[in-house]
Amino acid sequence: MVEDFDRNHLWHPYTSTSNPLPVYKADHAEGCEIVLEDGRRLIDGMSSWWCAIHGYNHPVLNEAAVAQIRRMSHVMFGGLTHEPAVSLGKLLLRIAPPSMSKIFYADSGSVAVEVAMKMAVQYNFATGHPRKTDFVTIRRGYHGDTWNAMSVCDPVTGMHSLFGSALPVRRFVPSPSSRFDGEWNDEDIRPLEDMVRQHHDTLAALILEPVVQGAGGMWFYHPEYLRKAVALCREYGILVIFDEIATGFGRTGRLFAWEHAGVEPDIMCIGKALTGGYMTFSAVLASDKVADGISCNPPYAFMHGPTFMGNPLACAVAKASTELLLASGWKEKVRAIEAQLREELQPAVSLPAVSDVRVLGSIGVIEVKKPVDMGYMQRRFVEEGVWVRPFGRLVYVMPPYIISPEQLGRLTHALVKITGEL
Ligand code: PMP
Repeated sequence: MVEDFDRNHLWHPYTSTSNPLPVYKADHAEGCEIVLEDGRRLIDGMSSWWCAIHGYNHPVLNEAAVAQIRRMSHVMFGGLTHEPAVSLGKLLLRIAPPSMSKIFYADSGSVAVEVAMKMAVQYNFATGHPRKTDFVTIRRGYHGDTWNAMSVCDPVTGMHSLFGSALPVRRFVPSPSSRFDGEWNDEDIRPLEDMVRQHHDTLAALILEPVVQGAGGMWFYHPEYLRKAVALCREYGILVIFDEIATGFGRTGRLFAWEHAGVEPDIMCIGKALTGGYMTFSAVLASDKVADGISCNPPYAFMHGPTFMGNPLACAVAKASTELLLASGWKEKVRAIEAQLREELQPAVSLPAVSDVRVLGSIGVIEVKKPVDMGYMQRRFVEEGVWVRPFGRLVYVMPPYIISPEQLGRLTHALVKITGEL
């Protein structure tokens, strides 16, 4: 088990220091396996929270990092630029929605969301709509843990009640109930219609995770919702922010999830798999309309500029990771993972503890009826030789795209077996 120092001094995500959940000590990771200090090898079902799409310790990404370190790990982006930032930017614009033309590099997913929200407010301020400072979103969303990102997370499963009046109060409408692969129900858009009609004069933007709501509930909704929502926002002069931090880089079977609906946002956030899971990095993409609105009016500048903006090391690895993805036959790989997940998770449908099974791209979810004991489940998964971290009522996998059918089979077997024990 893990040493006392960790237990006594290190905070882990969403845990207590006095009674922390158990942790396992990773020694190294390679391919699709995390190797613990005691030698146990775990097949990775999490891609380290959706990032490590190429698996671990990849020679191409290692080389990109080492080569860049030898030139420079970092220089400030104020007044300087560099090849990694420029060539990554060119690559991102090639794969982004066509209307995106400006890029703001940021530090993490949450910071990207902060930047996107600031852009929306500053755009409205600069273009003569100073009252448009509020945001609307759908329930069951997750956009990060910083202040504004938190304010648009689901108000029940998010942290609103903990932070009370310190948190900005946003507008929420129900999450669409039409399933991704089911019939579209027009009633799903009514709450947003009502909200927008009533409050458009104070709304800066609608923020959404397109098609897949991730950490807020692993829900896959119908792309028609995006088409209708975007049309409404255009009609009422409300910007649209797509948070593709979790859905980007092939995870849902499309390079980016907006492609399922074919409607573009005004601002888009990407992160997580951007560096193939090597380091924290994100980007906010914006249309000319947004960028010009901000830039052609006082104060003639977008007021954000983090210390590590455009970090060359992160840009170099992000470029290598994205090139690797595009050359990797990712679409076929994700399609094969999807087919195997559908087949092998299907038996879970009839388990007594299970309420739903759903699969999209390389995401497989078993929803159970009661919240799981995370510590217990984690231990059981480790005993089975796999790395899966369920939360709430969701037992899910999101493996690296390089996973072999045999490794994926071991993951799905463990998932069905352990939810069968509940
Ligand atoms: N948006 C979405 C959709 C996410 O899934 C996450 C992270 N789970 C974030 C934002 C926040 O990203 P980060 O943890 O890098 O701050």
